[in-house]
Amino acid sequence: MNSSYCAKIKEKHMKFNTKTIHGGQQNIDPAYGSVMPPIYQTSTYAQTTPGGHKGFEYSRSGNPTRSALESALASIENGEFGIAFGSGLAAIDAVLKLLKAGDEVISTNDLYGGTYRLFTKIFEGFGIKFHFVNMENTNKIEEYINSNTKLIWVETPTNPMMKIIDIKAVATIAKKHNVLLGVDNTFTTPYLQQPLDLGADIVMHSATKYLGGHSDVLLGALIVKDSELANKLYFVQKASGAVCGPQDSFLVLRGLKTLHVRMQRHCENGRTVAEYLAQHQKIERVYWPGFENHPNHNIAREQMKDFGGMISFETKGNSFERAIRIVESLKVFTLAESLGGVESLAGHPASMTHASISKDERDKIGIVDSLIRLSVGIEDVEDLIEDLKQAIG
Ligand SMILES: *Cc1c(COP(=O)(O)O)cnc(C)c1O
Repeated sequence: MNSSYCAKIKEKHMKFNTKTIHGGQQNIDPAYGSVMPPIYQTSTYAQTTPGGHKGFEYSRSGNPTRSALESALASIENGEFGIAFGSGLAAIDAVLKLLKAGDEVISTNDLYGGTYRLFTKIFEGFGIKFHFVNMENTNKIEEYINSNTKLIWVETPTNPMMKIIDIKAVATIAKKHNVLLGVDNTFTTPYLQQPLDLGADIVMHSATKYLGGHSDVLLGALIVKDSELANKLYFVQKASGAVCGPQDSFLVLRGLKTLHVRMQRHCENGRTVAEYLAQHQKIERVYWPGFENHPNHNIAREQMKDFGGMISFETKGNSFERAIRIVESLKVFTLAESLGGVESLAGHPASMTHASISKDERDKIGIVDSLIRLSVGIEDVEDLIEDLKQAIG
């Protein structure tokens, strides 16, 4: 089946795996018929008369390669509009710019560190008030809602404790109080979870992770259904200017085309690694939403297609030094920040991503000294198990 044939299939009849390859990609390049969208490495576009252009005037407000990516993203998240940015944080920054001083935001409490920093160190200074709430029990949320509440911001599963939040239940609360609901879908991707279908207003991605999938690009995105909301966000994109370049847009477009096959393997390998760790004598606890005794496992089953390749675990005795020795001795897993690439990565939250939080605070939320976080890649799983076996000893 070639892409011109697929382009004729009504988009909404396409299944997910077809959408990752063809979704939003209606036009075969009119110049030379190139199958992949060209990288339009240009800042500006010739006009025949003032205003006489082909839809693009200046690359901050629009670029054809970025547009191709934006419509692909809208397609795979079952949205109408995609808005792409230079990084995941730039995308969240654009959402917060819909608010004004005096407005309030309710957010998950064990939030991605960079998001927490953006909220507390930048936007609190502009007069926006944040409430960080454990949303595992969604009943708690309403206690924080008042007439100033404008946005609920959710991450699920959370990082690194893999807490599961019921998106549908939060969406019901948000609708009841006429508050926007944004979901950071970086950990799951639309292959596993589609928040717009569950009632969210905005889906956000750090495409740096699974969507790009090859640890070679930074990019962020928002996807929405409502055209008024989309127009406000396109305005921020143009007015604040945190856009991604055409080369980076191309890399994420290329990544998207294999998202479904990569995610399938991430999930398979994730399950095998989680089960291996769970039966290991020297492991105290494994956090992975696929376990039946994981808190809110039933919600994960309902809102996710599978359980992903992100796993955290603690070794017995809770030794900081021992955790460091383990991550240093891994050979197939690379010790690095980030996640979602084809290669397996390991991290030590207490000394890396969450080092800026005090030990007391870390212990309270479960980020103990021995906690290690894995982003399980798509290598042969036997090699990953062998690597963990030699490192844990
Ligand atoms: C990485 C990440 C971000 C930030 O994205 P960048 O592309 O690094 O700016 C936001 N949320 C989550 C869950 C992430 O993992």
